[in-house]
Amino acid sequence: MNIALIAHDAKKELMVQFCIAYCGILSRHRLCATGTTGKMVSEATGLDIACFLSGSQGGAEQIASRVGCNEIDMVLFFRNPMSPHQNEPNEDNLMRLCDVYNIPFATNIATAEVLIHGLERGDMDWRDIVRG
Ligand code: PGA
Repeated sequence: MNIALIAHDAKKELMVQFCIAYCGILSRHRLCATGTTGKMVSEATGLDIACFLSGSQGGAEQIASRVGCNEIDMVLFFRNPMSPHQNEPNEDNLMRLCDVYNIPFATNIATAEVLIHGLERGDMDWRDIVRG
């Protein structure tokens, strides 16, 4: 599966801890991320991550365009719900496209854990079958 990772600044450390905890599962999938999130996670875990631009430079939009090309199977976007900064990516379009294409989209660690366990259980294997 192709999994995209994004974390607002206030949630980046949480994303790192999440990826350390689930490194074994994540290592069996293809990962991509916005620039800083990807760099932090790969440095902490050794996971191989395709890093797009930083969120402030269009990284979330690059991920959104791949959702539209059926190249992303799951998005884990840890948002800061308290005080998002202006230069942080707005998730509206990415979320909308995930709804258009029925892509699982977690905005917090609790949902992300459910998705990761479902992924491990094979709940998403149908996507590989559909893609052929
Ligand atoms: P980043 O993008 O991972 O490049 O920081 C996300 C954000 O801007 O919050």
